[in-house]
Amino acid sequence: MAEQSIKPQKTIIEIEDMITVGTLAEKLSIPVGRLIAELMKNGVMATVNERIDFDTAQIIVSELGLDLVLEKATASQAVAPTRHKPSASGDAETRPPVVAVMGHVDHGKTSLLDAIRGAEVVKNEAGGITQHISAYQVEHSKRMITFLDTPGHEAFAAIREHGAQLTDIVVIVVAADDGIKPQTLEAIRFARKAGVKILVAINKVDKPEADINRVKQQLSDNGLLIEEWGGDTVIVPVSAKTKEGIEQLLDMILLIADVEDLKADINMPASGLIIEAHLEQGRGPVAQALVEAGCLQLGDSIVSGASYAKIRNLETTNGEPISAATPSMPVVISGFKTLPEFGEEFRVVKNEKTARTEAGLKAIDNRASAARMNIGSNELIRLINRDNTLKELNVIIKADVQGSLTSVIDSLKALDTDEVSVRVVGSGIGPVSENDLHLAHSSNALVYGFNVNLPSSGRQQASRDKVSVRLYSVIYELIDDAKQELSKLLSPQIVETELGRLIVKGIFKIARTEIICGGEVTKGKLTAPALGRIFRDDTQLAEVKVTGLKRGPSEAKEILEGELCGMSLETAKRLNLQEGDRVEVFTREALERQL
Ligand code: GDP
Repeated sequence: MAEQSIKPQKTIIEIEDMITVGTLAEKLSIPVGRLIAELMKNGVMATVNERIDFDTAQIIVSELGLDLVLEKATASQAVAPTRHKPSASGDAETRPPVVAVMGHVDHGKTSLLDAIRGAEVVKNEAGGITQHISAYQVEHSKRMITFLDTPGHEAFAAIREHGAQLTDIVVIVVAADDGIKPQTLEAIRFARKAGVKILVAINKVDKPEADINRVKQQLSDNGLLIEEWGGDTVIVPVSAKTKEGIEQLLDMILLIADVEDLKADINMPASGLIIEAHLEQGRGPVAQALVEAGCLQLGDSIVSGASYAKIRNLETTNGEPISAATPSMPVVISGFKTLPEFGEEFRVVKNEKTARTEAGLKAIDNRASAARMNIGSNELIRLINRDNTLKELNVIIKADVQGSLTSVIDSLKALDTDEVSVRVVGSGIGPVSENDLHLAHSSNALVYGFNVNLPSSGRQQASRDKVSVRLYSVIYELIDDAKQELSKLLSPQIVETELGRLIVKGIFKIARTEIICGGEVTKGKLTAPALGRIFRDDTQLAEVKVTGLKRGPSEAKEILEGELCGMSLETAKRLNLQEGDRVEVFTREALERQL
């Protein structure tokens, strides 16, 4: 029987229109060097992070003789959405885009959000840094756009990551006079990871030193290929100060929203995410939430993790009472029995009883898993080390709102190493209370307050009990302080420096703790006071202190190689020093370490 020829099917590899050399090598499972070499052979000079187009990639693959086929990924495959979004059914309706503004500190995120909103809040903020997430909607061309007011400093990465999970479009703000900074790149990475659309606002174009072209070049150097150069990243030059370009920015956001065809089903029980929660005097727990699907109504019963509410008040984030909220709307909800968790999902259930039961079950579940102590390997190493080397800084953290509290705790935990660790013995929302001070006193903890105060009665208690309370309104200053405290816990680094060697040629005095000998320096330069190790052949006999040196009859500060000298030693145990023994002279310092 003739052998049936079955051609093995070629592997199909899907890539996007533009792909970095590194990613392509990974997809082709070949060393990146081989790919770069092949590109060079074909006259294309590209480094690992540079992008090549689909056609070039195809030529290279055939040149390499690889047994596979390259295909262009379709749009839906190219953007791998990792975020959770309620799926829209057939009768879904168009919803406003949810936009987050990210970028390097001081590049003008807050100013831009204010310019869009037409409000002025930037001046009230400590250090000019937005401290917690909130959201608002603006109307443009008779359509709504939701903006998340995401914080700008890296210590808020935790919140910002949540911010990116909520968003459809990320506006990356880059100051035209400063260019791309590490946080800009971090924001781009976040946005890409979340599979959201990126739009770049080059801000501060009113400044004389603004250099838009430089920013464009930096963007494309970092893999964001801008539209006018054939890529798909839209760039809008703006000035938050003069408002130039703001209209175009909003136009472009709506255009991207149209292309993305953002929809949500409103005929289903409402659900969404908690984006802020805090306690308010007279109102109890108040949460800001973003509706993702369904229509949230006043009086609805909702569950969010172990918290639940029968919605008592529903408001826009500007404080206007409303009776219902549709997808992409940010709302303020009161009626929660306990503070819901920032970043937690919420959903409407049948009635308050169901809400209470579900939240109660979740609370039991939380307690049970806390008891099970789901320990990761790092945690395990720390626990094992607890009695030996791990040193802990006990802290109590108080903050104004849940989002900030989460961020402070996350940022402090990020300082942990195998040697030192932050242990949060207590945390909560509101001013530093007497209870906090009691707990701090009994657990030997430091109290950090973020955007909260210490009432005067507490001040007396703190000074009486010697409890250190540190109040901050700028997060990275708080983190720096904790870093300093942790550094103090690090055991010092012992540094030994060899000075020189002496061969013993004569013994002048041997007492129980003091020896005076003479000898020749065979290496280096001796100084005193210093330390010495006495060797006979290869065996170390003792460690001694070198208390003095003499050149002839007079004291000498230093003795150089080749010179003869006298040496006074102090020893802890009786030592039978002999001619021919070697003294290795060195210094030992304990250096403070920094985290
Ligand atoms: P954020 O840290 O990114 O939120 O930046 P801010 O909005 O706090 O702005 C930082 C600084 O840049 C402030 O002093 C603003 O007044 C200034 N700024 C922001 N946007 C512009 C702009 O378009 N033009 C000029 N000239 N200054 C701006």
